[in-house]
Amino acid sequence: MKHVIGLTCKECGRSYPIAAAHVCEFCFGPLEVTYDYEEMRSNVSRETIGAGPQTLWRYRDLLPTPEGDVVDLGAGWTRLLPAPRLAAELGLRKLWLKSDASNPTHSFKDRVVTVALSVARSLGFDVAACASTGNLANAVAAHAAATGMRSVILIPSDLEPAKVAATSVYGGTVIAVDGSYDDVNRICAELVGAKRWAFVNVNVRPYYSEGSKTLAFETAEQLGWRAPDALVIPIASGSMLTKVRKGLGELRKLGLIDEPGTAIYGAQAEGCSPVATAFAEGSDDVRPVKPNTIAKSLAIGDPADGYYALRDVRGTGGAVATVPEAEVAEGIRLLARTEGFFTETAGGVTISALEQLVRSGKIDKDAETVALITGIGLKTLDALGETRVTSTTAPRTDDVRAVLEEVGL
Ligand SMILES: *Cc1c(COP(=O)(O)O)cnc(C)c1O
Ligand SMILES: [Zn+2]
Repeated sequence: MKHVIGLTCKECGRSYPIAAAHVCEFCFGPLEVTYDYEEMRSNVSRETIGAGPQTLWRYRDLLPTPEGDVVDLGAGWTRLLPAPRLAAELGLRKLWLKSDASNPTHSFKDRVVTVALSVARSLGFDVAACASTGNLANAVAAHAAATGMRSVILIPSDLEPAKVAATSVYGGTVIAVDGSYDDVNRICAELVGAKRWAFVNVNVRPYYSEGSKTLAFETAEQLGWRAPDALVIPIASGSMLTKVRKGLGELRKLGLIDEPGTAIYGAQAEGCSPVATAFAEGSDDVRPVKPNTIAKSLAIGDPADGYYALRDVRGTGGAVATVPEAEVAEGIRLLARTEGFFTETAGGVTISALEQLVRSGKIDKDAETVALITGIGLKTLDALGETRVTSTTAPRTDDVRAVLEEVGL
């Protein structure tokens, strides 16, 4: 990793070598991967990236990529879809959807896991572990299986059945804890000291979180090497949001895009909205909450990067929207009805937040906007309630005709 300097504390700036470490020994601040941008600049161009694979590994020279093989199921390089019908409904001039439902395990989490486990394997780990609200569980179990690592997945016991099934199928150890995600995370934090495992969102978190930068890289490249005016991003721990901003900044540093004027907007569901609450109060203090939300993939009551996410939103002139619980499913339906795209609850939060931000004028109607749609709807079918058909009829064509007439067909 010639272009990687090491880890640096985000608070006090102390540096550390590349290792499985995530907090500063002096001030307990989070550690972040730092790069030699001069070195990077001499290796990276639009052309070298363009000649890379159709996965996020086309940005291998901008990531903490180990020598040799990476753990790769094909994550990233997902499509940036124009959304003209949704844009028209919202009154926006230009809207794009970054479609992370088409990742290998159907959420954005494949991005962070492919990077985390690639580094973990190069550091000699042979067990991958995580605390998860579901999507991370799927991604860790799949990537571990594909590289022959064992996996240990801890989840809250009230997770959506589809997410549990889509984790256990890979043959790892899945432990359901009768508690919240924050309980599960605490248990993981305690196990880290006792087990020599790679906990993707704990001891190898600095590498994990770098994977999110690729959302910024891809969006800019797919727009023809420029940044959008506005980005709408769902917030769980806040990591993705902060890394999208870091990614745009790096593209600028490398001369790959002009100065990004992108305003970054966050989205949370009301039942777990600590970052949105701090934003609304004008406070820097993200007070932990007990999550009670239908958007389980965003249900982190004590977000590790909440403070930094707030700073990034404010620093770019964005905002954080709170979406009422009842509007999460409405967001899912709105996207499906207008663009034929079935997203999970996190996407419902993002779309409803987008709608709210446009209606309130916080996102200008002329702003070219990108919404990050981070997961697939099939994993959160429960959120839609009873499945309703238009009508159930007797096996007679006349009865079917009568229904058709009622709906004007
Ligand atoms: C994890 C997750 C997020 C948010 O991730 P953070 O980086 O923790 O803020 C968003 N959407 C989906 C579908 C996720 O699974
Ligand atoms: Zn420090």
